[in-house]
Amino acid sequence: MENLVKSSTKKIIWAIWIVLIPFGLLLTYHLYPPNISGEYGDVLAFLIFMAIVASMPMMINGTPVFFLQWATISVFLIFGLFIETVLVQIALFTLMLQMRLDKKSIFRLPMNSAMFFLVSVLSGMIYYSLGGSHGTDILFRFDSFMLILFYPLVYFVLNAVIIYLIDRLVYKRRTSFLTKDVIWEFFTTLITYPVGFALYIMYLDIGLMSLVLIGIPFICLSVVLRLYHSSQTINDYLKKIAEIGHQLSQALFVKETINLFIDSIFELIKVDVVYVDQVNSKNELESIARVEKQKKLPIFSDVLKENEGIIGRVLAIKKPAVYHRRKDWEELNKGFMPDYIESVLCMPIIKNKAVIGILLLGSTQKKAFAHTKLMILDLLCTQFAVALDNARYFEKTKENSERCGLTKLYNYRYFEKLLTAKFSEMNNDIIKSLTVIMLDIDHFKSINDTYGHQAGNEILIEFADRVAKFIDKHGVVARYGGEEFVILLENAKMDEAEELAEFLRKMIETRPFSIKQNIDDKQSELQVSITASLGLACAPEQAEEAMALIRHADRALYVGAKRAGRNRVACYMK
Ligand code: GH3
Ligand code: MG
Ligand code: MG
Repeated sequence: MENLVKSSTKKIIWAIWIVLIPFGLLLTYHLYPPNISGEYGDVLAFLIFMAIVASMPMMINGTPVFFLQWATISVFLIFGLFIETVLVQIALFTLMLQMRLDKKSIFRLPMNSAMFFLVSVLSGMIYYSLGGSHGTDILFRFDSFMLILFYPLVYFVLNAVIIYLIDRLVYKRRTSFLTKDVIWEFFTTLITYPVGFALYIMYLDIGLMSLVLIGIPFICLSVVLRLYHSSQTINDYLKKIAEIGHQLSQALFVKETINLFIDSIFELIKVDVVYVDQVNSKNELESIARVEKQKKLPIFSDVLKENEGIIGRVLAIKKPAVYHRRKDWEELNKGFMPDYIESVLCMPIIKNKAVIGILLLGSTQKKAFAHTKLMILDLLCTQFAVALDNARYFEKTKENSERCGLTKLYNYRYFEKLLTAKFSEMNNDIIKSLTVIMLDIDHFKSINDTYGHQAGNEILIEFADRVAKFIDKHGVVARYGGEEFVILLENAKMDEAEELAEFLRKMIETRPFSIKQNIDDKQSELQVSITASLGLACAPEQAEEAMALIRHADRALYVGAKRAGRNRVACYMK
């Protein structure tokens, strides 16, 4: 919200404040000089009560809510306008100090100060100009009694008008006059004003004892409301976390899980940077996510060891660390940290008593991370740890079921699924054509017989590696069976595909394969030359469905290449 306020507007607010407060106070002092000789102790007692109440606001959607009117009204009626304005200003500063405003929102201090000042002074002036007064001589006179009833109405209306003007002029919001805040203000005035009036009457009779009788219950009420509100807030958080946990448990993939985790952090707490690191097999921390000011950025490439930097320390002690200001962590820091960060919270992500990752949050505000947030994040991290583990397991299982253990290429199951999917893309005109190249190593049985099965495996691995590197991003390579491989190309012309197949054939024929473990168990490396036969078929011209395309490439391989003498490329002919 503060971001939307122009810096020129903020300057105007400061300028108004600097002029208004001293001159306004002087004027008030001059017009309505306070007469409190001998009552300094009483004024101080009122001030202390007001400061206590102001220092315990409930934060509702970022705005502080507190009941102070009961004290302000009695101070006004007992000591007069000047003392009231001064006490309200001091109470307000106590409140604002609590809110730990950052550079962007510090203008709210002069804004609220000027607002309270204007409302106090204007309504006080109206009250006095209509014949009102303060002190002991106003009781039991009908007209002053009416004025005492009239005063809060003026105060309330002025307050609403000024809030409305601030909304319009400072925040540029098109709000209506009767907002929720105004209605809230109306009812609190209705409750607190009679209490303030009662306090005034009691004060005249029994002095400061009245403040104890009325002030203490009110402070207790504030405490109870605050506790109730904070347990409500925690309840709301818990509900949200339960829902996030549900979402996290349904995420299948690692990336998806991390993104959900980060989004939920932004949803739950106000934070400017989020870094997530994982602990690798060497017990080092490597970055897996980095978000600054809501923007996902490339992750850091350098790793940190245990005890290195803020996160390294948390990895070592396995406990969260909270820093309230920059100078508390600056010396410890090793990795990158934007220069606008003040508060830092660093929390281990723990699964089965082992730290599997570290979460680091940064805020531009000082003392941004309070105790409740630590608890919330702890819950969130626990859920994230479980979800991340599940997602990793899922990806691993998926990978295992899709890949061949020896060559790490995709297996036939994956290839057939992929080809079927690609066929439907082709039928929907997303892809123009599909070409399958089938490869089979020639006389592979005799390789096994000569050098041993282990050596055969080594050749298969190098063969797979070469083909995959050669095809790279131009297509997909899979191991279709024992010494049979298959390549899928999208949108390739038939002659281009044939050329490519011919190139592959030559590369296999001319570059021998090395084997280390041959059957004689001699540890010397051997060079073995092999050849392969290749068959091609393409769709949509030669096949209308996935399995037919594979069959036809296979047929081209056996009939066109193998039978014709091996070590050659053949295209399918209808
Ligand atoms: P052709 O030129 O007709 O293809 O002859 P070939 O010997 O390559 O064909 P055949 O189908 O008769 O034999 C394939 C051989 O491939 C049989 C098997 O021992 C071997 N083979 C299949 N899978 C593996 C494997 O994973 N590792 C090893 N080392 N050999 C394998
Ligand atoms: Mg074969
Ligand atoms: Mg073969």
